[in-house]
Amino acid sequence: MKMKWKKIVLLLMVLVLFCSCKKEEPMDSWEAAVGLSYTYMREGVINTNGQVLRFYDVQSEQDVALCAKPNCEHLGASSTNPNPECNAYLGAYPDMPAIVGGQLYCVIQEEFTWDKPEGLFQKYLYRAEVDGTNRKEIAKFSDAQNSATADYGEGYFVYTYRNTEDVEGNTLEQCRAGIYLVDLKQEKTEQITVFDGYQAYIPNVMVYNDKVYYVYSYLKEYMDFLDYEVIFSEEFNQKMVENTCQEIWEYDIKTKKQNCIWNGGGSYYVTTMNDGIICVKESDRATIINCADGAQKEVSQEIFYGKAVMPYGNKIYFLTDGVLKAYQVEAGEVEDIGTYDESELKEIGILAITEETVYFMAQNGDEYYLPYDKFIKGKLDEVKKIEWQS
Ligand SMILES: [Zn+2]
Repeated sequence: MKMKWKKIVLLLMVLVLFCSCKKEEPMDSWEAAVGLSYTYMREGVINTNGQVLRFYDVQSEQDVALCAKPNCEHLGASSTNPNPECNAYLGAYPDMPAIVGGQLYCVIQEEFTWDKPEGLFQKYLYRAEVDGTNRKEIAKFSDAQNSATADYGEGYFVYTYRNTEDVEGNTLEQCRAGIYLVDLKQEKTEQITVFDGYQAYIPNVMVYNDKVYYVYSYLKEYMDFLDYEVIFSEEFNQKMVENTCQEIWEYDIKTKKQNCIWNGGGSYYVTTMNDGIICVKESDRATIINCADGAQKEVSQEIFYGKAVMPYGNKIYFLTDGVLKAYQVEAGEVEDIGTYDESELKEIGILAITEETVYFMAQNGDEYYLPYDKFIKGKLDEVKKIEWQS
C-alpha cells in the first residue's frame, strides 16, 4: 500500500510538471507531428536525439526526462551503464515517440546483431505512462527495416518504412516502401500498403478525417546511386528529375479502399501535408489539395516564393525575408502573420504548426537550433529558443 502511494505521488509530480499551466485533461490531444529527431505537440517537444527521451514543456520552458524514478540520473546505455534502468530509456533506437491521448508512445527496435540482421526488420510500438512506467507492446511491425516517417492523429498512429535490403542482408534492386496503421484505442494493427519500386519511398503521411494520405515517390528506371562520379554531375540531377514520379494516395480507414488522387512526373517536388491540406510545390507551379472536399487547385509557385511551406487551418504558411506569411487557400490571398529579426534568426524551415505553437528550425552562425513561437489565433507572439539541458 505504501509503495502504491509513493508511485501515485511520483506520477502526480510528473503530471504537475507537464501541465502547470493547462486547464483540464493535460496532454489529451491525439495530434503530434513526427520529425527527424523531435516530435512536436501542442504542449511541447519530445527530443529523441539521445537514448533517453526528454520532453520540453513550452509553458514552463523546462525539459525533463520522461522518468519519475527517484535519484535517477536518466542515463542511456554505455560501457559503464550497459543495462540502463531509467524509465526514459527505451532501447538504443527510440523512434517516433509522442504523448497523445495522455500516454506516451514510442517505436522500439528489436535487438539485433549484424550477423543476424532479420531482427532489424522487427519494430514494436510501445505505450507507457508519461513517466515511462507500465510499458506495454501494442503493435508489431514485422517487415520494417528503416523508419521513414509517421503521424499521430485522431487516435491513430500511421508509420511508414523503407527496406533497401532483404532479411538476409542482400541489397534489393527495387526498394520496398510500406505503411502500417495502428488504431491506438482498439490496439489493432494492419499493413495498409506495400510498394516495390526503384528508390521507392513514402516521405509524407497524414491522418485526416478517418483517412490516411501519403506520398509515394519512386523512379521510373533503375539508377545506380553508388556511382559517386555520376551522382554529383548535372547530368545525374537532370536524369533524377526526369525519372522521378510522385503519387498522392488516399486510404479510407473505414472501407479500406484506396486510390491515387494526384500524380506527377518529370519535376522537382516539395510536398507538405498537415491538418487536411496537401501542398505540392513543383518547379513552376504548386498544387493545393483540400482533403475536406477533395478540391484541387493549381497556383503559380511564386505565391510561395519563400522557403518552408506548412499548411495549417486552411492556410499555407511560409517564411520569406524574415516574415511569416499565410496563403489563404479559399480566398487565394496572402497575409502577413508576423516578423522577427532576421539578423538574429536565420530561418531554415517550419517544422510543425500546432494549435498554439509554430516550431522552426533556425540557424545563427554555426549554431542550429529549434525556436518556437506562441501562435494563438493565427498571430505570432514572441520567438523563443529551446534550450535543452545537456
Ligand atoms: Zn530516469
